[in-house]
Amino acid sequence: MDFDVIIVGAGSMGMAAGYYLAKQGKQVLLIDSHNPPHSEGSHHGETRIIRHAYGEGESYVKMALRAQVLWNELQELSEEEIFINTGVINIGPLHSTFIQNVISSAEKYSLNVKRITAEEIQQRWPGFSVPEGYIGCYERDSGVLMSENCISAYKTEAIKQGAILKPNSPVTSIDVFEDYVQVKTEKDSYTAKSLIFTPGAGSRKLLPLLGLELPLQEVRKTFSWFDTDEEIYRTDSFPAFAFEFSTETFYGFPSIKEAGVKIGRHDGGQPRDMDRPNEPFGTYEDDIKDVSRFAERYIHKVGQHRMGKVCTYTNTPDEDFIIDKHPNHDHVVIACGFSGHGFKFSSVVGEILSELVTGDGQTMFDITPFSLKRFEKIQ
Ligand SMILES: Cc1cc2nc3c(=O)[nH]c(=O)nc-3n(C[C@H](O)[C@H](O)[C@H](O)COP(=O)(O)OP(=O)(O)OC[C@H]3O[C@@H](n4cnc5c(N)ncnc54)[C@H](O)[C@@H]3O)c2cc1C
Repeated sequence: MDFDVIIVGAGSMGMAAGYYLAKQGKQVLLIDSHNPPHSEGSHHGETRIIRHAYGEGESYVKMALRAQVLWNELQELSEEEIFINTGVINIGPLHSTFIQNVISSAEKYSLNVKRITAEEIQQRWPGFSVPEGYIGCYERDSGVLMSENCISAYKTEAIKQGAILKPNSPVTSIDVFEDYVQVKTEKDSYTAKSLIFTPGAGSRKLLPLLGLELPLQEVRKTFSWFDTDEEIYRTDSFPAFAFEFSTETFYGFPSIKEAGVKIGRHDGGQPRDMDRPNEPFGTYEDDIKDVSRFAERYIHKVGQHRMGKVCTYTNTPDEDFIIDKHPNHDHVVIACGFSGHGFKFSSVVGEILSELVTGDGQTMFDITPFSLKRFEKIQ
């Protein structure tokens, strides 16, 4: 046997899993079609929001809190900037499900979340313009993860602990046997006792190699940077934010190292064909129009649109993750479908994946909401 564990896809989830396994002394092989971090998957664009109050279910809050502990530990290990404690404000109509969920999850878990009126928001952060009847839930302890630095740091630490990374090596075949797996790339073939399957937007294409078909949809997403007045929008004077309207959700980041305020739209986007190159930023009129319209009204002190980029979400129908063992093979673990909100959890998901393929194969986290069983079309 070549390895204890082979990880297919060494991006956000896979690289973290590689680190936690190598740290336990496991022989780990990470295989990726590119050289992470890179801009062909779901993790580029420099930043991701981490918030702890999560209305989408109890499992998420517990995982977010553990994720934050692990990010702080990674920050201790790494010289790169991993987490910036900017705080995060969720803004929306008082009675919206989103705001009510944030409030109830904050109360239930005694999170440091403060309710703020529209007027107070504007006084404290003049860079916002908040409609009447909207409120903010401000989380002081959360903030921004430097996503590409996070993956670089996990990569450095995993390799330091003995993990082997095969970059630029797309996986072409996976064979699962009773007590081992064999994974092939164009040039090489490897065996291991267990497999972790984390190829992000490449999942739907590779799942048939495991005899599975899942209702995943890859979606082309764009985001943009705007010129800014640094006094108003720098990291120590402006928080990361999510702005929820009845039919749209936008999110954004303060200006980090004078890069400008970054804004994206969470809903919408175009279904993507992963066999074709991603259509570049500006292909669709909405690429600039959506965020510019939002910025002009609500982040009204930003200046001109500076530049934009394109990235990919991999959505499940219910937008909950998939983290589960293969229905027929206990030594194969699948983690995909992170539906545009997975990055903040990648530290804890890496830890969970490492637990699922070692020891008694159990995790203390409740991952039943992420089970494969909720989809009918498992072959
Ligand atoms: C624009 C945008 C904004 C986002 N904002 C947030 C946010 O604010 N907060 C948040 O928590 N989340 C956010 N997310 C979501 C988050 O970034 C993703 O959920 C997360 O990065 C997914 O991780 P992953 O490991 O599944 O995919 P990736 O990080 O893309 O890793 C998958 C890896 O698999 C590799 N791979 C694919 N196919 C193969 C193959 N055949 N062989 C070998 N390797 C392969 C890829 O090269 C890649 O490196 C955002 C996503 C986008 C696109």
